[in-house]
Amino acid sequence: MTTLLTSPTERHTPSIENHSPLAAACAQLRSASDHLGFDEGMHAMLAHPRREMTVAVPLRRDNGETTVVTGYRVQHNLSRGPAKGGVRFHPAVTLDEVRALAMWMTWKCALLDVPYGGAKGGVAIDPSKFSNPELERITRRYTSEISPILGPAQDIPAPDIGTDEQTMAWMMDTYSVNQGYTIGGVVTGKPFALGGSLGRPSATSRGVVHVALAALRSTDIDPETATAAVQGYGKVGGGVVDFLCEAGVRVTAVSDQYGAVAAPAGIDPLALRAHASATGSVVQCPGTSEIDPEDVLTADVDLLVPAAVESVLHSGNADRVKARVIAEGANGPTTPAADAVLTERGVVIVPDILANAGGVVVSYFEWVQSNQSYRWSAELVDERLSARMSEAWTGVTDFARQRGLTLREAATVLAVQRVAEAHRLRGLYP
Ligand code: NAD
Repeated sequence: MTTLLTSPTERHTPSIENHSPLAAACAQLRSASDHLGFDEGMHAMLAHPRREMTVAVPLRRDNGETTVVTGYRVQHNLSRGPAKGGVRFHPAVTLDEVRALAMWMTWKCALLDVPYGGAKGGVAIDPSKFSNPELERITRRYTSEISPILGPAQDIPAPDIGTDEQTMAWMMDTYSVNQGYTIGGVVTGKPFALGGSLGRPSATSRGVVHVALAALRSTDIDPETATAAVQGYGKVGGGVVDFLCEAGVRVTAVSDQYGAVAAPAGIDPLALRAHASATGSVVQCPGTSEIDPEDVLTADVDLLVPAAVESVLHSGNADRVKARVIAEGANGPTTPAADAVLTERGVVIVPDILANAGGVVVSYFEWVQSNQSYRWSAELVDERLSARMSEAWTGVTDFARQRGLTLREAATVLAVQRVAEAHRLRGLYP
């Protein structure tokens, strides 16, 4: 049995509060391993990323100069199937962040019982500082550099922060051209015209709202009289605002990277979408007033949905959060220290690996459709997404009740147990 006590991930386990996503991911795995009584060998197998690639991405800028940016792809676990996870374009991307996000993908795929391992990728750039042709060149070179470990049966990227359907189209085309034929199943989150699935663009937000409403009801809060605040108005947060409003929830505060707006009577989702599409930001949306972005996290609402970046809820603000339910649209928005404070205060936290799993569920549906060259109707996608989210919600809440665990602990233990079972059944080669 493997007896490594430290892994590239575990070395970062903190003794005092640490805002690093990797520290949070490691602490969650350690607690699940302890709960399950795993020996150090099994723990090490689960903690070690299976494969990591760091690549230099040389770019010819529009002005003729050359610059080099750094890209990563981490495949955390492959025991349940091909690696699966998004690609992030953000200036704060580091190998450690990608390791954490890849580990969470492993647990998310196992929890939702989709036949994948976990992966994540990233390029350390601010996409707003590059022209569209430059972004295309970065995407294509990055894809080409990591292509030895990609493939519909090996590793299947998807969009994340700073990337979108167009990025996936370039990745799919680059991979396909290098292989000599079109391979749609190498990415998910593709444009519909290239085999993307109906329902994929809204899937993560739909899933977040599905479990957020269930969590409100389980806390005896009627969604039709509930209020909510949403941090982040991108692919996830934007849809969350729309679907919450559709369900009758009054969204009173929303932020993005440029600022935050509030309207105590409720923000008009159509006006917000039109304003953000026209200006690129929620700031100065008609019918709202400007507030401090930090006040979105501590707004006097029933439901808080962090849907931007990691570690925004920490020991410095957790005691001021007023929401009774938090649904984690983002990956890793809550540090372990904040998690402890919020749990102590009785706040129900629907953890990221459950709350935002709708995206990977419909990515799985897209992959199945691409591999079979077949299309499902929007109704079928939505119906199957809802069924998967309901099943996962019930599974996690029942398990939490039986074992006296928080929803995060229950979700992580269930997921880790499934991955460990796959390891045991497959055995060690040689
Ligand atoms: P995105 O790039 O489409 O949107 C990110 C949003 O967050 C933007 O509105 C940006 O302005 C805002 N933002 C960034 N920093 C902020 C800050 N400090 N305060 C407030 N707002 C800030 O990205 P996305 O795809 O919506 O991803 C958001 C989160 O959801 C990430 O944690 C991502 O990993 C997670 N996630 C995304 C998907 C998906 O399908 N896209 C699936 C699962 C999880």
